[in-house]
Amino acid sequence: MRPVRRFRELGAARPPADTRVLLRRAIVLGGSIAGLLAARVLSDHAAEVIILERDDQDPGRTRPGVPQSTQVHVLLDGGRVQLDRWFPGFSHGMLADGAVLSKGDAIRMYVDGALKVPSNDEIVSAGRPFLESRVRARALALRNVRLVAARARGLTFAGDRVTGVRYTADGDPADRVTDLPADLVVDAMGRSSRLGDWLEQAGWSRPPMRRVGIDLGYATAHFRRDDTRPGVSTVQSVVQPGSGQRPGVSVLTAVEDGRWSMLLSGFADDHPTRDPEDFRARCRRLPEIFSSVAERCPMIGPVATYRQADSRRRDFHALRRLPAGLVAVGDAVASFNPVYGQGMSSAALHASCLSAYLRSGPTISAPARGYFDLVRLVVDAAWQTSTTNDLGLPHVDGPYPRGFRVAHRLSDLILRASVTDADINHRFLQVTHMRAHPNTLIRPGLLLRAVRVTRARTPAAH
Ligand SMILES: Cc1cc2nc3c(=O)[nH]c(=O)nc-3n(C[C@H](O)[C@H](O)[C@H](O)COP(=O)(O)OP(=O)(O)OC[C@H]3O[C@@H](n4cnc5c(N)ncnc54)[C@H](O)[C@@H]3O)c2cc1C
Repeated sequence: MRPVRRFRELGAARPPADTRVLLRRAIVLGGSIAGLLAARVLSDHAAEVIILERDDQDPGRTRPGVPQSTQVHVLLDGGRVQLDRWFPGFSHGMLADGAVLSKGDAIRMYVDGALKVPSNDEIVSAGRPFLESRVRARALALRNVRLVAARARGLTFAGDRVTGVRYTADGDPADRVTDLPADLVVDAMGRSSRLGDWLEQAGWSRPPMRRVGIDLGYATAHFRRDDTRPGVSTVQSVVQPGSGQRPGVSVLTAVEDGRWSMLLSGFADDHPTRDPEDFRARCRRLPEIFSSVAERCPMIGPVATYRQADSRRRDFHALRRLPAGLVAVGDAVASFNPVYGQGMSSAALHASCLSAYLRSGPTISAPARGYFDLVRLVVDAAWQTSTTNDLGLPHVDGPYPRGFRVAHRLSDLILRASVTDADINHRFLQVTHMRAHPNTLIRPGLLLRAVRVTRARTPAAH
């Protein structure tokens, strides 16, 4: 099936009606966004779903198991639709609890300092711990899902299949390892998952990993939200290479508890630091609203920083031999440059892939190749969007895929045209928000229009 159509189907908004129980027990390793959403899907197909989470702390606060939770987490529309699909009424519940809805003129997007045409998008903003605690509450309210505070230590195998998990219960003074059998094990242990080691130790191959080194530095600060900018609640500024400024993405967004959450980013030798003065000085390079908030609103707490060396993907679909009874979701499969905000939405779409696979009448005693083929489609789409941009950064040195130059030029063309053309902007946002496949932008009519729009705007350049 064509990727564009398949992607659209995976992004369906309605919960499936055609589910049936195929598994006695499914175990999910990791109880963050990807693991909780996988557990939700599995609750339709397994008599019992157990989530093993090593860091079972109040997810309403930042927790060590998810160190990135100190940073701004934008929920793309593709992810919001999936959260509402798996947990009906989810985003309304978030708003009722204090999350902030931005739409119309309340959203300002800048590219190289130029304000884009308004879009008809809606963005629901909240802190990452706030969001995760609500996903967790909904997942653990399901009658056949429970969470065990434990560290997964390995897998058990019999012949060509995974038969369960080895774990140590949280707080066990003797550090005992217990075996827990399962029909299906889901790796949701995030980008540092040790699943590859466990597979290798058991005589299987680890999935091949692809990386693009990005050397990204992130900093997030919170400010008390007053009436400094009453009509605005989400601002994004993208600075492209070649603009004369250091490239990076910055976000200012209103979140729960009357706060602004502000993210600044930079690459290579331009990482933001923990120093509040450095933070404010960087704001002065951005559209005026950033410094207006940073100078006039009181900063709450310290500036939190984060570094990410690379975007990475594990290509399970490329493994010649794969044990049955095993799948992987979320960052354990692919983790991208976070400036594009794709992680949680990808995880949500992986849950959708798992649902589509389990509804397709699979042979559970065979490797889950049908699942990994679907996940590949979602990963390819997100990877294409993020790496096409990142590979154009001066400090990034490949590997460049075939056709990269053309892809990069087209992507740059669409971005520039999206600044002034509302229709192109809408289609562009559908892709960057993971509602549509990137191929929807590679249409002759759209590209011709983008050329016309950008020429009309910059006649001197041509
Ligand atoms: C700086 C930064 C900013 C980001 N911003 C955004 C954003 O704006 N929007 C967005 O959508 N995404 C964003 N992301 C990505 C997002 O954080 C992840 O994609 C999302 O959390 C889904 O990840 P996950 O559940 O796969 O893994 P994680 O959230 O990393 O969770 C892995 C879980 O597994 C548990 N675990 C690990 N090992 C074991 C073990 N052995 N046993 C038991 N449990 C284990 C951990 O404790 C943790 O709970 C950002 C990421 C970073 C780094």
